[in-house]
Amino acid sequence: MADRWKVFRDRQITVHDFARDVLVVCPRCARPARVFATDGTENFYRARHWRMVCPTCGYHQDKTSNCRTISTGRHGGVADPMFGLPLRLQKSCCGGKLLWAFNLEHLSFVESFVAATIRERSDAVRAGDGYRRMSMIAKLPSWLKSAKHRDEILKVIQKLKDSIIAAP
Ligand SMILES: [Zn+2]
Repeated sequence: MADRWKVFRDRQITVHDFARDVLVVCPRCARPARVFATDGTENFYRARHWRMVCPTCGYHQDKTSNCRTISTGRHGGVADPMFGLPLRLQKSCCGGKLLWAFNLEHLSFVESFVAATIRERSDAVRAGDGYRRMSMIAKLPSWLKSAKHRDEILKVIQKLKDSIIAAP
């Protein structure tokens, strides 16, 4: 019991948790499409069989891949790790920086981090496990953590969300 509790507490959110289900731009009709693992595994590293499906035009592709590399898009935009299709959720902001997310859950995660105040962060640390749970947050780029960018980033995130809702 004690061990199971520890495993739960030590579980860290990483960017790979979001890479199992990715919103991309359909190469045929340019509408939002999904790339996801068909193995039924929750673990990005264990997934081998991947599918890309566009709900708008029906275009789909299957691929078997052991790819484990996630490009952070230092050059140009960010693409999904399996098919190399551009992420649907990406937008430049804060003077040439690129805000991106694999899916809406990932975008909400970034949003809640950016919206969080210093007070909330110290509460997490006081709870005793704050440092561990912030493993992914620690890796976020510094411009994203900067308070002066907060309003602009939150606006861009909202625009991205609206663009998905508006898409047929
Ligand atoms: Zn399509």
